[in-house]
Amino acid sequence: MAWHPQAKNGIWLPQIGWALDATKTVPAAIVSHAHSDHIGRHRELVCSPPTARFIRARLPGKRIEHVLRFGQCEALTADCAVTLHPAGHILGSSMIELRGAPGVLLYTGDFKLRPGLAAEACAVPHADTLIMETTFGLPRYALPPDADVIADIIRFCQSAVTDGAVPVLYCYSLGKSQEVLQALAPAGLPIMLHAQTLRMTRIYETCGQVFPPYREFDANEVGGHVVICPPPHNKAGLLRRIPAPRTAIISGWAMDRAARYRYGCDAAFPLSDHADFPDLLRMVELVQPRRVFTVHGYAVEFAQTLRSRGWDAVALGRENQLELTLAGRS
Ligand SMILES: [Zn+2]
Repeated sequence: MAWHPQAKNGIWLPQIGWALDATKTVPAAIVSHAHSDHIGRHRELVCSPPTARFIRARLPGKRIEHVLRFGQCEALTADCAVTLHPAGHILGSSMIELRGAPGVLLYTGDFKLRPGLAAEACAVPHADTLIMETTFGLPRYALPPDADVIADIIRFCQSAVTDGAVPVLYCYSLGKSQEVLQALAPAGLPIMLHAQTLRMTRIYETCGQVFPPYREFDANEVGGHVVICPPPHNKAGLLRRIPAPRTAIISGWAMDRAARYRYGCDAAFPLSDHADFPDLLRMVELVQPRRVFTVHGYAVEFAQTLRSRGWDAVALGRENQLELTLAGRS
């Protein structure tokens, strides 16, 4: 017997009737973390305590919550139990371990093996079946050391302020912003947060995180501050109210040389809350699974890399790819 996950509205596990990270409403879902592409309005859900707080703020409504601490085990069905393990991606982000008749399954959700400044350290259990995210599943995606990137970000902010410009750091409001806020602490620069970022940061504080001083964005007093705000959807908005902005995107995608042009920024810094290619490989070594399913990003390419190294691996939902290609040719 084995697990038979399906790529359908997140991941669907027909053997137990639960979904993982579904975004469309389902009766029962386990949620790895609170980024918007992993949450939905479900009737019943399992998640970590911080994830529950973020979901309540992002998707208010009534639901049955099973809030599990890391390492706490709970029965989902008569013969399947769930345990959450820290994924190191954002605060509360969890890897989902399911123990049942088909064996032990581990779903990583989004994860990061390197220690972050605003998330719990990733802890990896063994499993028979591994479903892993592969956002940066190509060899060219190898991140520089975080300390070097953080030093570059601080230098960028300091030189902007020295020049009389306002450094504006584009970071996702949940996770990346709080990591950058912590990273800026040694620089001692005054910091302003976009309202949306501020809201998420306050929830981090209710979970016990302590940050360097910050205040809400105020265009009239922005001179001399570093501004942290979500990447803009258009050129309007906050930026127009800042005199002499100097912008930087903070994203793993800054590993692509063209990132700064793609985001229309003055600079781009590759600080990521995802595993890079070497850490994707390390994850598989740590879990020692019999079978690997890859999802997200370069899933097909990474599955191929794993097969070339002797692992049984396939991109989830693309199992028939070869057959389809052959059929297309004939
Ligand atoms: Zn995420």
